[in-house]
Amino acid sequence: MGIDNVYLVKGERSIVVDGGQPGKFGPFARKLRQAGVSPSDIGLIVATHGHWDHIGCLAEMKQYTCAPLAMHAGDRNSIEAPNAVMPPGVTPWGRFLSALLSATVIPWLKIPAASVDVIVPDDGMSLEPYGVSGRVLHTPGHTPGSVSIVLPSGDALVGDLAMNRIPLRLSPGLPIFAEDMAQLKRSIEKLLAAGAKTIYPAHGKPFPANVLKSAVAAM
Ligand SMILES: [Zn+2]
Ligand SMILES: [Zn+2]
Repeated sequence: MGIDNVYLVKGERSIVVDGGQPGKFGPFARKLRQAGVSPSDIGLIVATHGHWDHIGCLAEMKQYTCAPLAMHAGDRNSIEAPNAVMPPGVTPWGRFLSALLSATVIPWLKIPAASVDVIVPDDGMSLEPYGVSGRVLHTPGHTPGSVSIVLPSGDALVGDLAMNRIPLRLSPGLPIFAEDMAQLKRSIEKLLAAGAKTIYPAHGKPFPANVLKSAVAAM
């Protein structure tokens, strides 16, 4: 939905991960239908963090599915009182892109507000009550309230804890934007310890978790 991947995880019920770019709600209903999921099958919407490209359609998703929205308290204000900002760049390209978007796209964004119904605790939470086997982990660093989802298969949906897409990165690896890289490193270690095998970033295609293992070892 826009520059952002939105994931659907199917179980006894289903969960939606992330809320896309503002104004990109269009394909949501059709994609659900194609996946054989009705709006009332959605047990939970999880926002991995509060950046504009991940929360733009959360209000419409909530209205369409009637599902509760889960987020960590650290990023809650981003959707309850939306005010789009670019995260700081941590590479030369990241710093350039952050400044460029801050001066062009960001001031024009309008993000519909939505209320957060479930606060993800610092020690994480199970998705079992929402119909999916797996856990939400608090994985701060990109933002203070970033979370990731790890499934029993080792599939990990990580938001912007990692990136893999032009124009952000040429190959899979660490994000080019982050608020705290030391914290981000610890979060990746936590994710690997929780059994992450395949990383599904919000930007770009999935890749093996070993790529992140080497990236943090080199930090
Ligand atoms: Zn982000
Ligand atoms: Zn993003």
